[in-house]
Amino acid sequence: MTNVMYLISALCFIGALRGLASAQTSRLGNWIAIFGMLIAIVGVCIKAGRNDFALLFGTIGAGAAIGNIIALRVSMVSLPQMVAGFHSLVGLSAVLVACAVFCSPHSFGILENGNICISGLVEMGLGVAIGAITFTGSLIAFLKLQGLYKGHNISRAFNFAFGSGVICLLIYFIYAKSLIAFVLLACASMVLGATLVIPIGGADMPVVVSLLNSYSGWAASGIGFTLHNDLLIITGALVGASGAILSYIMCKGMNRSLLDVIFSTSFGGGATKSQNVVSNFHQGMPEDIACMLASAQSVIIVPGYGMATSKAQHALKELGDTLKKRGVSVRYAIHPVAGRMPGHMNVLLAEADVPYDEVFELDEINGEFSSCDVAYVIGANDITNPAAKTDPGSPIYGMPILEVSRAKAVVFLKRSMGVGYAGVDNSLFYAENTIMLLGDAKKNTEEVVRAL
Ligand code: NDP
Repeated sequence: MTNVMYLISALCFIGALRGLASAQTSRLGNWIAIFGMLIAIVGVCIKAGRNDFALLFGTIGAGAAIGNIIALRVSMVSLPQMVAGFHSLVGLSAVLVACAVFCSPHSFGILENGNICISGLVEMGLGVAIGAITFTGSLIAFLKLQGLYKGHNISRAFNFAFGSGVICLLIYFIYAKSLIAFVLLACASMVLGATLVIPIGGADMPVVVSLLNSYSGWAASGIGFTLHNDLLIITGALVGASGAILSYIMCKGMNRSLLDVIFSTSFGGGATKSQNVVSNFHQGMPEDIACMLASAQSVIIVPGYGMATSKAQHALKELGDTLKKRGVSVRYAIHPVAGRMPGHMNVLLAEADVPYDEVFELDEINGEFSSCDVAYVIGANDITNPAAKTDPGSPIYGMPILEVSRAKAVVFLKRSMGVGYAGVDNSLFYAENTIMLLGDAKKNTEEVVRAL
């Protein structure tokens, strides 16, 4: 019976991932995941033959309440750090479960002739090491994303040497089977998790969070083998694989390799000012932009991180509706790494009820800019920067961009002439066909709607 429940639960988790793959079905995906988790919990209770439900559900209820409060309060902009914070708990729980198993193997039924078998020790050791790396790595990622810690330079050689030391400790733990070796392995892995993430630059942090998510899955899977728990093995593998695929997709979107992300230092996250002050740019007022939009036939809206920080999505939807009423064709162009996490813009536009069929991915829309009258770039910068194509020395060189410069006119809504997250000047601001609408994106979009 428990195995059947585990199977249903695992299928629910696979269905949930499928649902989460698109904005239309993501709510359903979440519900399927919740249902799967409920079945899993009941299945575990039945298997364990527990009757102290008050303790079990009291603890789960308290955790769920805290999780709900945090999730409801967190702003869209702070989602990546919330995810990082939650991952650190997954890593810590892998360490704690392994600790419980190691200290009390008879309770978990993993003894062979009175000893923990070799395969059990290998799985446990891997679970502890990966769990501990995930724990501290995610904590550092949280502090960096929250702006509480800027990071330091730690050489690759040091991390390589330290990583080799952790592997030696893992082998020693399997050989010695002692509590001291267990504690040493856990502590050294925690230090490694921190030293690996400390030197990574701010703009790469979301990739790191996704990678740590993947690690936490593999840690859970390792512990699942130790506990002979099929569901934990499957669920851990799902998390591990989906996190790895997501990291790959993000790296591809930024045209960076995973090794580059892990071992290079400081890509983005620091600079806030333009280094090259060029005074020749065209500045417009909301009324000018309204005039341009009113006489356009086709408008493509390009949202970026600034739309999220200014919470301009509802004003943007109103702008789209107003233009459509005037017979203007309106489409939204989404870059795979716009904002600060995958799907950031899709989620915000969905929240504002922007129709899904008006939202296009980079490959679908890039060819359309040349026939569009106005590209309305709201709070986006790096994802439109031609330096990604023309300047081999630029840190964003090679990243695919939304080719807004091909539009007849480009409007940039931002607060200043400052740089985006990668810290690179954008020559488009000074182009002949560009008009800057400086100020808060939401306020200015509302002004444009009023003027229209
Ligand atoms: P950028 O960070 O390049 O630009 C955002 C712009 O928004 C800034 O130049 C800022 O200019 C402007 N802005 C900020 N607040 C406001 C506001 N209230 N009103 C108006 N404008 C505002 O963001 P993009 O979305 O263009 O690019 C995303 C970047 O993040 C890329 O470099 C990408 O590689 C990186 N990244 C994204 C990940 C993802 O998964 N999405 C993952 C990892 C990295 P100003 O200060 O002048 O207002």
